Parts: sequence; structure tokens; C-alpha cells
Amino acid sequence: MTKTIKSAVSLVVLAAASLGAHAADFPARDKVITIVVPFAAGGPTDRVARDLAEAMRKPLGGATVVVDNAAGAGGSIGANKVARAAPDGYTLLLHHVGMATMPTLVRNIPFKVESDFEYLGMINDVPMTLIGKPALPASNYRELAGWVNQNKGKINLGNAGVGSASHLCGLLFQTALKTDMTAVPYKGTGPAMTDLIGGQIDLMCDQTTNTTSQIEARKVKAYAVTTAKRLSTAALKDLPTLQEAGLKDFQVTIWHGLYAPKGTPADVQKKLNDAMKVALRDPEFIKKQEGLGAVVVTDKRMEPAEHKKFVQSEIAKWSPIIKAAGVYAD
Ligand code: ASP
Repeated sequence: MTKTIKSAVSLVVLAAASLGAHAADFPARDKVITIVVPFAAGGPTDRVARDLAEAMRKPLGGATVVVDNAAGAGGSIGANKVARAAPDGYTLLLHHVGMATMPTLVRNIPFKVESDFEYLGMINDVPMTLIGKPALPASNYRELAGWVNQNKGKINLGNAGVGSASHLCGLLFQTALKTDMTAVPYKGTGPAMTDLIGGQIDLMCDQTTNTTSQIEARKVKAYAVTTAKRLSTAALKDLPTLQEAGLKDFQVTIWHGLYAPKGTPADVQKKLNDAMKVALRDPEFIKKQEGLGAVVVTDKRMEPAEHKKFVQSEIAKWSPIIKAAGVYAD
């Protein structure tokens, strides 16, 4: 009997030591930290992830931080990949408001947003813009609203799948205009943007991190921003808010956060959050983000506990809105 207890005790000590040792030497020189983006490369989420990966390398002692695009199902495929990953700090998820809409939108969601992830902190708030194909016969929001009414049932609206930010914004836009459009889902608004520029789809609501450069290059028509106040960047400052345009209390801002699988050692979580805070204060990171209309988080949402509280409040906020719109994804 004593022998069995002794060997069990030594096993526990060994396991604790290895975890402790693991956290102490995190990140190991020979290991890669992967930030999973649940959308295709070239889109707004991918952009935030690549900028953050760049800014986190130095505070993580020069670690190799890469981005892995695991797209599909409006972001739930990538989120599930991280929920199932080893809780060792080397596989992280960068996601947006989809973490708060999936619990209501995706009926058979394969993971629990509130209990299958460790919350590492928030990153930024990103406005959205309502944009159209170059040949769309409307040069301002008023003309666009008229065109939408004259073309009921004939309009194609691009998005990144049910549960994506573009899907959510498109939903609110259709509800506000009391009209239905045909949703054309892509693996991300990166590829969707290519089709909008090419005229294969008519409209899209997407984050300024993806639309700013296309609006500046006049490759798409821009109609409005979804924030309560107009933006200050050169390319977007003349765009009216949708509220100004008459869609009262229409307001959508897309926030991004970083997550690890549940059970990631607390020490490792702290190292990652500390590195995030250094990255978010990096002037280079801030300049890149602000140049694309994003606002880097400086408030208490940088703290993991506040990050989790914020997501829980967003789940409660979006659930009735989504249910009222009567949209689900299986
Ligand atoms: N953020 C998604 C992307 O990066 C787009 C979306 O959620 O609509 O493609």
C-alpha cells in the first residue's frame, strides 16, 4: 500500500514540477507561438493578428509568433481549434465580437465561449464602414437607401459567414431598412472584398482595418461609418455616421481579444498578458492600428478578468438582438 501511495505522490510532484518548469521557461526558444485567426488571410482580423504578433515578439524575449488562418463557419472552426488545443500557451485565438454572438447564432456550437477559454485581454475597437461595388449607382447614403428600396430581393451582400462581424452588421442594416438581401458568405472579408471590387457582389459592411485602403484607392464606394461619431482618419473623416443618415441608434464597433485554451498555466497567461500590454503601448503598433481607424484598448479591458466580464456583457447584449432578427446557423 505505502509503495503505491509513494509512487502516486511522486507522480503528482513530477507533474507539478513539469508544469512549474514549463511556465518558468515559457516561451521555450525552440517553440513557436501560433495566433489562430478564424478568418481567411487578408481580412481585418488577420490584419490585427499580424500587427499584434509583430509587436509581441520582443516582449516575449524574441519568440517566434506566427499567424494561422483557420477559416470557416463564421469563425467557429478556428475558435474550436483553439478550444481543443494543448493548454500550453503556444496556441492562441485572436477573435472579435463573434465570441459574443456565436453562443446565440450557432445552435450546435462545439465549444463553450465562457468555459473553454482563458481570457488574455482585449486589443482594440474597430469601426465598420458600409461600402459598395464601384459601379453601384449611388454616390451617397441617401441615394443608396433609394437604390436598396428599388432593388428589393436583388441585392447581394457579402459577409464572412454567419456569426461574423460583417454578417452581424449586414443583419442590423437590413433590419433597419426593413429589407432582405441575399447573403453571400466567404471565408473572410478579405476574399469578399475582392469580389466587391470586381462587382460580383453589391454591398458589404466591413471593418476599417480592411476597407480604409480600398476607400483611399477609390476601389469601392463608401457610404457611412457605423460608429456613434465620425472618424478622424483622412480617408474616412467625411463619411457620415449611419445615425446621421437617419438610422437612429445604429451603432456597431468590432472589438478584438486574445484567448488561450482553458487550463493554460496561470504563469503563462500572465506572461502573455504582460507581453500584450507592452505590444498595445508600442508606438509602431498604435500608429498602424490608428491609421486604419482602429482604437487600441487602454482601459481596464486589458485585464483578463475585465476582458471576460466584457464578453459576458456582450453575449447578453447581442442575444436578444440576434433572436429578434431570427437568424441561426447550424
Ligand atoms: N473579421 C472577419 C475577417 O477578418 C470579417 C468579419 O467578421 O466579418 O474576415
